[in-house]
Amino acid sequence: MRRLPAILAGRCPRCLQGRVWRGIFTMNENCPVCGLRFERESGYWTGAMVASYAIGIPVLGLIFLAVFLATRWDFLVVLVLADGLFFIAAPFVWRYSRIVWLHLDWLLDPVRS
Ligand SMILES: [Zn+2]
Repeated sequence: MRRLPAILAGRCPRCLQGRVWRGIFTMNENCPVCGLRFERESGYWTGAMVASYAIGIPVLGLIFLAVFLATRWDFLVVLVLADGLFFIAAPFVWRYSRIVWLHLDWLLDPVRS
């Protein structure tokens, strides 16, 4: 079970070694270790939107819960505040949505060559 640590560390779905991201907002086009092209075709990252939703909703829920438990303010106030705080987490959700999508796609349709 080496895949989960590789996902958490943002590594390539094929070799589980090369970094997917080279900066906060910059991806490597190819894996620096095995050469796998990350964006397999145009529109490839559309699938990452589903992963983004699957990751973003629980993150927003946790932020909402944390703010609510800390303040006990009105539901609507907490929801607006949690939405605002979510923007801080958004880059991480975005990065991990692509990493999760890469690994999910790899498990369903691997590129061996
Ligand atoms: Zn690789």
